[in-house]
Amino acid sequence: MKPVDWSSLFGQGAERIQASTIRELLKLTQRPGILSFAGGLPAPELFPKEEAAEAAAKLLRERGEVALQYGPTEGYAPLRAFVGAWLGVDPEEVLITTGSQQALDLLGKVFLEEGSPVLLEAPSYLGAIQAFRAYGPRFLTVPTGEEGPDLEALREALLRERPRFLYLIPSFQNPASGLMPLAKRQKLLELVTEAGVVVVEDDAYRELYFGERRLPSLFELARSAGYEGVIYLSSFSKILAPGLRVAFAVAPKEALKKLVQAKQGVDLHTPTLNQMLVLELLKEGLPARLERVRRVYREKAQAMLEALDSAMPQGVRYTRPQGGMFVWMELPEGVSSEELFQKAIAEGVAFVPGGPFFANGGGENTLRLSYATMDRARIQEGVKRLARALESLLPL
Ligand code: PMP
Repeated sequence: MKPVDWSSLFGQGAERIQASTIRELLKLTQRPGILSFAGGLPAPELFPKEEAAEAAAKLLRERGEVALQYGPTEGYAPLRAFVGAWLGVDPEEVLITTGSQQALDLLGKVFLEEGSPVLLEAPSYLGAIQAFRAYGPRFLTVPTGEEGPDLEALREALLRERPRFLYLIPSFQNPASGLMPLAKRQKLLELVTEAGVVVVEDDAYRELYFGERRLPSLFELARSAGYEGVIYLSSFSKILAPGLRVAFAVAPKEALKKLVQAKQGVDLHTPTLNQMLVLELLKEGLPARLERVRRVYREKAQAMLEALDSAMPQGVRYTRPQGGMFVWMELPEGVSSEELFQKAIAEGVAFVPGGPFFANGGGENTLRLSYATMDRARIQEGVKRLARALESLLPL
C-alpha cells in the first residue's frame, strides 16, 4: 500500500490532542486477576436493564417514527420540559447533550481559544482538562480539598486575571471527593458575582449524597441572588446509565444559543431514542431509584473506609467522602504514586495516580480510589493488596 504522511496533514488543533498517559496505565488494570479501584465507572448492578429493555421495545413499536427520526438540536422537547421542571428552570434554557463530556467540549469551543485563561481546581476532572486543552487555553489553577477550592487563592487569581470561566465541581469532586459547604458556596458566589466571572458548575454527582439532603448548587444560589453567570451541567450517567450518553446543560438564553449552534456542527442532536428512553425511565419510580443508588454507593464507601482505616500505615492521608464515587489519597511528601502503581499492579490491585488531574503539574504523591464497581469483599481484598504494595515504599 502506498503510504500517506498523515502527520503533515493534521491541523494545529490535532497537535494538542495527546494520548493520555493515564489511558496507557489503565490498560494494565484490565489484566485478569487485578482488582481495580481505577475506573470511574458507575456500579453496573444499578443499571435498569429490564425496565430499559421493555421501555425501548415499546418506544420503538409505538413511537418509532419519532424515536428513529432526526430531532431538534436543543433536545427532545418532553425531556427538556422534564429537566426544566426538575430544576425549576425554563425549558428554553435547557440543552440536552451527548453526555456532560460533550457539554465540556462545547464550552471549550464557544469560550476558549489559543491562550485564553480558564480557571480550574487543582486537581480537577481529567475529562474536562482534556476537553479544554484541545482549544489551547492557559490553565490557571487554585488548590482544592475536602471543602472545595481555596477561596483566598481564588480571590487572588481573580484579581490578577479575568478567566473566560471558572470550572468547578462543588459536590463530590472528581477526583478529590470534596464537598463545598454551604457558607463557602455563598462566599464563592459573592466573589464571582463581584468580579462578574462566569462559573461552569459540573454537578455530575448531584444525587449521590450520603447525608440527609443535597446542598443547594451554586446555580440555585446564584439564581436566587439574581446572578445569571452560572452555567449548570449534570448528567443521567450516574443515576441511570452512562452508556445512553444523555446529559444536560442549563444556561441563560444567549449563552445557550451559542452552545446549540456549536452542537449542531458536532452531532446535530443527541440520539432521540436514548432521550426518549431516559424520559421513560425517569417517569417511573425516580425517588425509589435515587434512594437505592445512594444506598449502594454509601455502603461501598463505608466498606472502603473501614478497610483503609484498618490497613493504611501512618503518614497516608485519605478523604472521607460524603457522596460520589471516590476516595482521594495523599502519600507522604516525596513518595511517588506512579511508583506505587507499578508495585500495586504486581500485587494485583490498581488505582489512578493523581498527577494527571493537575492541569499545571504537581500531585505526584496523590492518587484516586474508586469504590463504585466492587463489592465489600473485593474492596477489602483490594485495600489489603494496596497496603502490601505501600509497605515496600514507606519508611518504617
Ligand atoms: N464531569 C465529571 C465530574 C465526571 O466525573 C464525569 C464522568 N466521569 C463527566 C463529567 C462526564 O459524564 P458523562 O457520562 O455525562 O459524559
